[in-house]
Amino acid sequence: MTIKKCPISGKEFVISEDEHKFYKNIEVPTPTLSPLERARRRMSFGPLITTMYRRKCDATGKDLVTYYRPNTPIKVFDRNYWYSDNFDPKIYGREYDFSRSFFEQFGDLLWAVPKYQGLSIDSENCEYALLGRNNKNCYLVCGSNNENIMYTSASNSHEIVDCLTVYRSQICYECVNCVNLYNVKFAVHSYDCSNCLFLYECNHCQDCLMCVGLHNKQYCFQNKQLTKEEYEQIKNQYYTGSYQKLEAMKKEFQSFLKKFPWRADHNMKCENVLGDFMIDSSDCWMCIQGAKSKNCHYCIPFCNEQINCYDNSAARSENCYESTSRSNLYNCKFCHEVKESSNLEYCYEIVASSHDLFGCVGIKTNSEYMILNKQYAKDEYLALREKIIASMIKFGEWGEFFPSYLSLFPYQDSHAQEMFPIDNSQIKVDDKNNLLGWVDLGGEKKLSIRHQAEDTKTIWEQNYVVEDDIKNYRDDTKKQQELLQATLICQKTGRAYRIQSAELYFYIKNDLPIPRESFYARHPRRADELMKADFVDKKCAKCQKQIKTIYKSEEREVWCNDCYDQLNY
Ligand SMILES: [Zn+2]
Repeated sequence: MTIKKCPISGKEFVISEDEHKFYKNIEVPTPTLSPLERARRRMSFGPLITTMYRRKCDATGKDLVTYYRPNTPIKVFDRNYWYSDNFDPKIYGREYDFSRSFFEQFGDLLWAVPKYQGLSIDSENCEYALLGRNNKNCYLVCGSNNENIMYTSASNSHEIVDCLTVYRSQICYECVNCVNLYNVKFAVHSYDCSNCLFLYECNHCQDCLMCVGLHNKQYCFQNKQLTKEEYEQIKNQYYTGSYQKLEAMKKEFQSFLKKFPWRADHNMKCENVLGDFMIDSSDCWMCIQGAKSKNCHYCIPFCNEQINCYDNSAARSENCYESTSRSNLYNCKFCHEVKESSNLEYCYEIVASSHDLFGCVGIKTNSEYMILNKQYAKDEYLALREKIIASMIKFGEWGEFFPSYLSLFPYQDSHAQEMFPIDNSQIKVDDKNNLLGWVDLGGEKKLSIRHQAEDTKTIWEQNYVVEDDIKNYRDDTKKQQELLQATLICQKTGRAYRIQSAELYFYIKNDLPIPRESFYARHPRRADELMKADFVDKKCAKCQKQIKTIYKSEEREVWCNDCYDQLNY
């Protein structure tokens, strides 16, 4: 066992004997950064679900919706053009220069090779859905096989607005980390429920309002059993479509929640797993949000069907390390957005099944033995790879993921902002172009990030008074039109936002008032429920057993899962 100190966060972290064996097996040095700083660095390379801009295709001049800012100095191509024969990433291939560092040369290539416009793949009417595949009529979503969903990350779901991490669900609003819900609003960590409002940690419930930790119940209000008639009466008093009443209901539920302990973690059917939101997995350590994984460490976030992977956020992968990728990978290291490949190192956006690539960007045909997008014979490749690794060791680069400042996304637009939010005021800018910044996180080294100063902001003024009760819009098409054309100002961020027509019809149909905050304020609030990976040691407040949990606050007790599950309210 070794104890190291993270130069970025200044915090100590442990490398266990098992971990030493893993690093030795895959021939990399032990990590220098703490697991959380490694996760932050990887996540700084992906975009946030809220990130969306308009810019022109640099090949065709066509208008694009993309997650790259219009003033980011890269080339962005229309997705179809990028995939066509008109664009060949191999023309950007270059010789390796041993007088320069690898990251310097890789950065040049990364920023030179044109990127494709993000877009939901194999989808219909999803111009404003940049992540995922096989979606229909979706707007600002992340996930696959969805229909009619907005402002949401979900899979296999339909008619969903404003949810985060929801699976196999229908007609839901403001739910976080839920599975198999039907007509449920404001639910967190719940599954197999229908016709409910305001749930926390409930399962197999129907017609329940403001309940916590219930299983197999019907007609409960604040965990009290009512008759059907009593329940209907209370529900009708509370749930009217009025914004004021809904806000009061939210407050009431928040104070009701405080009477309950937190469950130490939300793992299900796991054996020997330290982590959270893991299902059906074994022998995992500090893994967050995943299922069916084995022998994985520090896969933060996302660890789905992975075997023997460390620091890896992909699906169906084996023996991989420090990558944020798609699926079906074997023995890949330090990669971002690669798929169906093996033996890739330091690669970025490899969208075709490939093997043995090093430092390549944007490869879209099945490829092998390339370095910095240049083709080699197998023997040449293997010899050059050895020499490059030796040079990287000298520069202190081998074994490290790409540094955050190479990311194409300013930190505020990146996925890292979801789990490790940094306030603009913490960022110091030190270059003329305002493109790089640094943040002091308490360690001996500063964190260097990609930064982009905000464009001059237009100060908007709300020119419209939103009706308190959604019912006022129901049969009044004139009022509906006025609202759809109005510019609303977010009460939290001051950002201008609009209501989409599909969204308005969802609110009308479900008796939900118009939200007074924009998606840019609503999304981080939900992410705060889920995107946590910083565990603390505590004792179960009931049985005193030692536990690890993401709940640091002393506001509520934390109970071990055994004690929590025996709760019978
Ligand atoms: Zn306990």
